[in-house]
Amino acid sequence: MPTTSTVPVSLPLPSVPRRRRSREEVEAAVPVEGPKRVLLAAPRGYCAGVDRAVIAVEKALEHYGPPVYVRKQIVHNLHVVSTLEERGAIFVDETDEAPEGALVIFSAHGVSPAVVRSAEQRGLRTIDATCPLVTKVHREAVRFAKDDYEILLIGHEGHEEVEGTYGEAPEHTQIVNSPEEADTIQVRDPDKLIWLSQTTLSVDETMETVRRLRERFPNLQDPPSDDICYATSNRQAAIKKIAPQADLVIVVGSANSSNSVRLVEVALEYGAKASHRVDFASQVDESWFEGVATVGVTSGASVPEVLVRDVLSLLADYGYGQVDEVVTAEEDILFSLPKELRATLKEKGDSSRGLGGRGARPAR
Ligand code: SF4
Repeated sequence: MPTTSTVPVSLPLPSVPRRRRSREEVEAAVPVEGPKRVLLAAPRGYCAGVDRAVIAVEKALEHYGPPVYVRKQIVHNLHVVSTLEERGAIFVDETDEAPEGALVIFSAHGVSPAVVRSAEQRGLRTIDATCPLVTKVHREAVRFAKDDYEILLIGHEGHEEVEGTYGEAPEHTQIVNSPEEADTIQVRDPDKLIWLSQTTLSVDETMETVRRLRERFPNLQDPPSDDICYATSNRQAAIKKIAPQADLVIVVGSANSSNSVRLVEVALEYGAKASHRVDFASQVDESWFEGVATVGVTSGASVPEVLVRDVLSLLADYGYGQVDEVVTAEEDILFSLPKELRATLKEKGDSSRGLGGRGARPAR
């Protein structure tokens, strides 16, 4: 059996628990003007693609039994990954770390065709939990490469999703990491050019990148439909509404979650006086509350609601017990579970389906 190197899941908690200051001590440091309240963003948390991917691992564990190997973190959230690890999932960086014949699940971020081929060659059984909205971008890349377009893929080099999309048509694709790169990138034929993007970018920054690209290449084509997904756009729209009123915005989400990191940036751009990202309520620093009347709270698309509830409960301890939800959109998107799993579930009489937004309920 080959040695298995797992994707490290270290929980960044302080090694020595520090003494929290009391609410009275925090208030005495910098008095708060006006009533204390929380503005809770909606939508927040789990999107349909994340929910589907997490259920895929849960169902694979239930019906095939552990170990179930997962290439990369199934979704970018420490809590989700460590919870699945406890139940028997083994997270690996590459499929060649899984023993021959093992069951391997591809994460929600998608994989390049080379990864699929390598898994086939090693006789692995696979379940593809790539979000259908990422698959849509892959298909666009294949289609435009076939028509000999050059693809400018706006996204962060090194991110798993970008690696997967790039891998569909490496000969035809260049990655554009930032608006600044749009000013210098060289293309083969400015009249046969299309831009695509990672699904979890800042909407505003991406539009700025496109604007700069189009200044240089006026015939640049748009993607057939938005690549930045509904969940990313909706979570950013909600925090844009809250940020101008917020002295502090807390974003629940992991450091490698593009979606969550963008929410901190958007909150600051739209007027929040301060914004911090935390994986867990234990990482909230009480000094952030000094002089703060209004706290905005949101969470990235890979974050289960239980983690937001923990933050709200901590906030209540510091006097922020009044929670007003700011709803900017309703989400009712559902994705069916990966086809490889559906057949097994049908055989076993399990009628589970992929759900959208399960994390927005406090049950998990
Ligand atoms: S953030 Fe968007 S693209 Fe990513 S898994 Fe969720 S729905 Fe899919």
